[in-house]
Amino acid sequence: EVVAEEKEVVAEKKEVVAEKKLNIIAEAKNDKVKVIAENITTLKVDAIVNAANKSLLGGGGVDGAIHRAAGRGLLAECRTLGGCKTGEAKITKAYNIKTVKAVIHTVGPIVYEEVTEELEEDLYNCYKNSLIVAAENNLRSIAFPSISTGIYGYPKEEAAITATKAVKEFLQDEEQSKKIDEVIFCVFGKEDEEIYSDLLPKVFG
Ligand code: ADP
Repeated sequence: EVVAEEKEVVAEKKEVVAEKKLNIIAEAKNDKVKVIAENITTLKVDAIVNAANKSLLGGGGVDGAIHRAAGRGLLAECRTLGGCKTGEAKITKAYNIKTVKAVIHTVGPIVYEEVTEELEEDLYNCYKNSLIVAAENNLRSIAFPSISTGIYGYPKEEAAITATKAVKEFLQDEEQSKKIDEVIFCVFGKEDEEIYSDLLPKVFG
């Protein structure tokens, strides 16, 4: 019995450590929206969003990290999907990422020179369509990386404004909002940490 108790204590301690590790940078008053600075593949949520490319066959950045963590099963399923258009979203299982039920793949716009209205709309649709796919599949918590702001060149601040706007407007829809408990902006790097922690209270209170 003592051994069992000890094991329990160890398990509890581990849990506490795991919780502590979660680096929550900001939290909205509505309790649904958070900014967390982590590797997205380590989060415990129903769905993580992948900033994929149109082929859905893997790439660098967060896409590479998700494919590495999920393993070859993910690539095999992605091969069956026939790619994805910019602004749209497709769902797969999460394979070896055991803390997550699904991966939602979306394709952000590529910015070559400046952000046009069309590119902004594409980015907005990435967030909106990913949330729609999550809601449709009964995935109640979802984590987003900063779509398009790496290799795809979208300016980080502008991207954060559009990302938060899309989430806010989705959650303003009462029917949709009921289906989502938690939206995490998963930031990776000091610049986005600052941008999102400034922006969150302004957008969500
Ligand atoms: P894109 O091609 O859409 O620009 P990237 O993967 O190059 O996608 O970058 C998107 C964002 O994802 C960047 O802010 C980058 O810092 C971030 N990122 C890279 N790896 C991870 C990761 N493991 N977890 C969360 N975010 C990540």
